[in-house]
Amino acid sequence: MFFLVASTLVSAQNTSYWQQHVDYAMEVDMNVENFQYTGTQKLVYTNNSPNELIRVYYHLYFNAFQPGSEMDMRLNSIADPDGRMWVDGKSRISQLSESEIGYLHPTSLAQDGNPVNYSEEGTVLVVELAKPIPPGGKTTFQMEFKGQVPVQIRRSGRNNKDGVALSMSQWYPKLAEYDFEGWHADPYIAREFHGVWGDFDVKLTIDKNYTVGGTGYLQNPNEIGHGYEAPGTKVPKVKGKTLTWHFKAPMVHDFMWAADPEYVHDSLQMEDGPTLHFLYKDDPKFKDTWTKVQPLTEKAMRFFNKNIGEYPYEQYSVIQGGDGGMEYAMATLITGGDKEGSVIGTMIHELAHSWFQHVLGTNEAKHEWMDEGFTSFVSALCSNEIREQNKANPFENSYNGYYHLVKSGQEMPQAAHADRYVNNMAYGISAYSKGAVFLSQLGYVIGQEKLMETLRKYYEDFKFKHPVPNDIKRTAEKVSGMELDWYLTDWTQTTNTIDYSIKEVAADGAKTKVFLERIGLMPMPLDILIVYNDGAQETLYAPLRMMRGEKENPYPQLKRTVLEDWPWASQNYGFTIDKPLESIKAIMIDPSQLMADVNQENNVWRAETLETMPKD
Ligand SMILES: [Zn+2]
Repeated sequence: MFFLVASTLVSAQNTSYWQQHVDYAMEVDMNVENFQYTGTQKLVYTNNSPNELIRVYYHLYFNAFQPGSEMDMRLNSIADPDGRMWVDGKSRISQLSESEIGYLHPTSLAQDGNPVNYSEEGTVLVVELAKPIPPGGKTTFQMEFKGQVPVQIRRSGRNNKDGVALSMSQWYPKLAEYDFEGWHADPYIAREFHGVWGDFDVKLTIDKNYTVGGTGYLQNPNEIGHGYEAPGTKVPKVKGKTLTWHFKAPMVHDFMWAADPEYVHDSLQMEDGPTLHFLYKDDPKFKDTWTKVQPLTEKAMRFFNKNIGEYPYEQYSVIQGGDGGMEYAMATLITGGDKEGSVIGTMIHELAHSWFQHVLGTNEAKHEWMDEGFTSFVSALCSNEIREQNKANPFENSYNGYYHLVKSGQEMPQAAHADRYVNNMAYGISAYSKGAVFLSQLGYVIGQEKLMETLRKYYEDFKFKHPVPNDIKRTAEKVSGMELDWYLTDWTQTTNTIDYSIKEVAADGAKTKVFLERIGLMPMPLDILIVYNDGAQETLYAPLRMMRGEKENPYPQLKRTVLEDWPWASQNYGFTIDKPLESIKAIMIDPSQLMADVNQENNVWRAETLETMPKD
């Protein structure tokens, strides 16, 4: 596991890529009576950038859960507020009392022993450094902080509807990321996250009756017990009221924990793999589902290991958190759920995020489609296999979502910041559905095997980094030998749509002429299927000129003819079939339907339609 990290750093040095590094050591005291906590944080920050830094920023996410916060204001003004955050016609945040709000405030902050000036701007802490950090320099921040856990509104919080006491994500002062684009000190408005890679050492002191799960390997399991002790260990009786849990997490960009006095803790040791932990409320209504989810988590882990790349950590925990599902380093928080299928589906999706977010640390706020979309893609593939769904097109829902978004007229380019979409619908479909289609359609363009090879290479080349859109495109280019800039730019930076049609099919003596038209602005290569009256089939392939390459025959059982390249600017394109018109039953553009053509009606020509027309 650690040699992987080392090799990443070595290869990173061979290019212009750099990333910052953090080492957190935190000690936290949690009061389970009033849900307030205090902590100390020693943060060693390494500036691997080529720039001198005079300022740094921290995220103070819990400050979002206060009336009048930016998150509250956005909720109250968006047309389709998230139902989880909305009650009685108002944002739930606006209705929180003093004892129910969340907050996180530093009470002291020093840099290498010298006090620094800092100010809070909502969920962002702005720190003017006592002395600049030079390129390659290291500095140590020592902070004391106090916090209050909000009543659960979204993702984080206490006393959620499943009755889980503490879901602690985004709970600590978290240094903002600085990368080649500069600072990413986004206010917490709705969604999602970007963090600095590094190592965490966390000591959590909490009521001894609480079972804790989350990011990080427990360092003192035989002292703690709660199902973490080595089998057969006699866990010593605790004299005081609290226990101090000591966790370490290497190479992560986030640290989450959850705790409840009624958690059941099951674990499953995978052969040659991580230990899986399951923590859920001791309530008969959850027992069945949370028992069934365990072997499926192992199957899903194996599926992703095989198809994407080896999971690099020693453990993964599926924890009941009470609010949909959200991915974290080495863990997920998911709702207990009344429906077995939705708990299993959520587990698969959140586990897939271990690859597409927690190892490939994309900036989710800027490239939400790489995080949610790629996760949706691989989790659909995984579900199809391990739940034996046997769908011909496991991404059908994603395509339908995308077509719905196009029809709605509210589509925005995927390059939009996650917080800046016109409404939640436009964000959700763009990130999840159109993001999944990015990959499944890339499979249409370069071929399915090349797509899976692209994903494996992408994981290998960019694990423990912050890949950006160009990285997945360049990886696909290297694997396929094609040029794909047009695909990335049209699909993710514009709302151009794909619409090709079969305009006309005409007899030409003993041959047949087919005329195609490009109606949409987005270019694509075309697979064309010809079905003859005698049952024979063949395919034709019209490569896109600017792609400068050809995929392998996706239908090796059928004869394929590669036609001349189609130059994009030409709206019309024609070819000749060496068979008479009477012998042809149907012609179809893209029989796989993996090309997201917004008008499928004009993709098919059938001989029957011609028979009704007068013949000359
Ligand atoms: Zn997700």
